Amino acid sequence: MAEDQVIVGLEVHCQLDTQSKLFCGCSTDYRSDGPNTHVCPVCLGLPGAMPVLNKRSIEYAMRVAKALNCSVIHESEFSRKNYFYPDLDKAYQITQYDKPLAEGGYLEIEGDEGGEKRIRLTRIHVEEDPGRLVHMGTAERGRYSLVDYNRAGIPLIEIVSEPDMRSPKEARKFLNKLRATLEYLSVFDSEKEGSLRVDANISIRGSERVEVKNISSYKGVEKALLFEITRQKSLLRRGQKVERETRHYLEAQGVTRSSRSKEQEHDYRYFPEPDLRPLHVQSWVDGIVLPELPDARRERFILQYGCSPNHARTLTGELRLANFYEAVVLPDPARLATLADTWISDTLIGELNYRDMSIDTVDPADFTALLGLLRDGLITDKGGIEILRVLLDNNRDHLPRETPAGIMDRLMLRKVSAAPRETTQEPEKSGGGPCPAPDPIQAAIADVLGEHPAAVEDYRKGKKGAFNFLIGQIMKKTRGCADPGELNRLLTEELNKREG
Ligand SMILES: [Zn+2]
Repeated sequence: MAEDQVIVGLEVHCQLDTQSKLFCGCSTDYRSDGPNTHVCPVCLGLPGAMPVLNKRSIEYAMRVAKALNCSVIHESEFSRKNYFYPDLDKAYQITQYDKPLAEGGYLEIEGDEGGEKRIRLTRIHVEEDPGRLVHMGTAERGRYSLVDYNRAGIPLIEIVSEPDMRSPKEARKFLNKLRATLEYLSVFDSEKEGSLRVDANISIRGSERVEVKNISSYKGVEKALLFEITRQKSLLRRGQKVERETRHYLEAQGVTRSSRSKEQEHDYRYFPEPDLRPLHVQSWVDGIVLPELPDARRERFILQYGCSPNHARTLTGELRLANFYEAVVLPDPARLATLADTWISDTLIGELNYRDMSIDTVDPADFTALLGLLRDGLITDKGGIEILRVLLDNNRDHLPRETPAGIMDRLMLRKVSAAPRETTQEPEKSGGGPCPAPDPIQAAIADVLGEHPAAVEDYRKGKKGAFNFLIGQIMKKTRGCADPGELNRLLTEELNKREG
């Protein structure tokens, strides 16, 4: 076991979510614009242009350093890292080398052996992002590449960990926790493409270590590490040696490949950046106040709402999810907290993942209303899941909005054991009044199909949500009186007739 032990350390590059670049006033909001439209003499490295440090990015970096328990170094320094590559217009990158902004620190994750595990950090430094190469065809065989300097000069922090992780899973947990922390600090937006890139150092205890460069997605890290572990172990099993080298991860193929470039540290000819003075932050760092961070919020969810420890970890593991939970329970914390805890953690997240949807697509008010039906005993758990699925499908397919109570009535999900209708508040049945005779149901179908040609078209294309939508519209017209089974049959018949 011990000779097979996996050792992983990560170097994580995160783009700081500032408005302008690190050394010039160019906007960082470049993703939807054409190439080379967010550039100026400074970030293009034209002769004579002088960098001016963006104060906000240093403040963001210090927030991160404090949140990760690092020591902020009171005097740090920028250096030039020289190398020749087309993504680097100046032929050097301004970065921090022997005097980084912060050292030490740690991040706690849930370790493979259970319980909290501390992953130590080596340092955090500030640097500028290089430009981006767009290869025409494959990188190896394409005839040419294009370069876009919109990204050149975007502020980055590089967070370097000690080799404290023992599996790809721990690496994934480290990254998830790091991402959550950065989002809680409002310095980072994980939804922005390419905002986080990772280099991973990986070895089997007793052998040489391999650096896997430029992994650009969270999922990529775990996959790249799994591939490397298998590759290294099989070399060792066959009595071969693992070479110390740099490899690149090819996301599409899920493999790592040896890269020929073998720069050593001295190849970079680091020297202090002559156009920037050393950075003094002593009086500044003490004034930085941190917001509530994931661990504190998790504890609070357990104490304040009675969340189970596992669910609290899930709910607070993403800022958007934690905010969603609190918005949902806000109207009636005493009676909604526990329901929301289980329904979000056990049901909603799974249903969202299944549809590849994000939590942002769900209106907390809708979810509160759905939980209200469960709380009041109007529907069963099974009915609740049905309503949730319709809500999500409607959102995904951009169908008109329906309330959970409306869906409950349309699908006749109201529990039969509920008190007789006359004596309780009448459900939100649109219109009320007596039910129409059966014939009007056929008429309602014809009307609805005439009024919603787009939904009919969607149905033809196989969109299941469109059928539910049409049923909903007919139910509305018939004031919820049509028998759902019968209505399903009639509508299917009518649609098929029109198709033929
Ligand atoms: Zn610029």
